[in-house]
Amino acid sequence: MTLPPELAAVAAATKGFLPPDEAEALHTAARAAGAGVWLEIGSYCGKSTVYLGGAARDVGAQLLTVDHHRGSEENQPGWEWHDASLVDAHTGRLDTLPSLRRTLWDAQLEGVVTPIVGDTKQVGRWWTTPLTFLFLDGNHTERIAQHDYAAFARHLVAGGTLAVHDVFPDPADGGQPPWHVVQRAVDSGAFEQTGVTGSLRVLRRIPGAAFS
Ligand code: MG
Repeated sequence: MTLPPELAAVAAATKGFLPPDEAEALHTAARAAGAGVWLEIGSYCGKSTVYLGGAARDVGAQLLTVDHHRGSEENQPGWEWHDASLVDAHTGRLDTLPSLRRTLWDAQLEGVVTPIVGDTKQVGRWWTTPLTFLFLDGNHTERIAQHDYAAFARHLVAGGTLAVHDVFPDPADGGQPPWHVVQRAVDSGAFEQTGVTGSLRVLRRIPGAAFS
């Protein structure tokens, strides 16, 4: 089932790094996860949040989306993925929160999506809620990608869905940390891979298997 056209139009107008085929695969995987609490790590301006939020609305789930909204390393001035229009004149730093809020407003998803403004290390210290769906697409350094997996994937219920973005097994295609996270999840015996679309991997938490 694809995203409704009015939401697809909002997503298309939203800045972000998610090709259409991967976005649809994310939407489909989320819908299949069913009701419950879903968590997205890495909101940015909300493009993937629209695909997830539309699915959440349809199946009666609640989506939480975490970002410090100051941008990753590659979004800072002088880097490849910097967008000067997202700089807050007051701080001189990136601020993508206003863009996220406009996106959620345009998509009429404010009643389904709860943004959390904070670093994943802060949020991971208090997060205890069981999850039926988790999308990891935050900071892609090894240290933080591994942290985010360890802090949040442990809260997936048996049979819950883990989606990981920007997974590139070949270093020539992109950074390795998300791929290392997928390998860790599968090698631990706690997850099995159920889908691959471009750089998006979908995994399932195996019932009864310990998290590590
Ligand atoms: Mg990404």
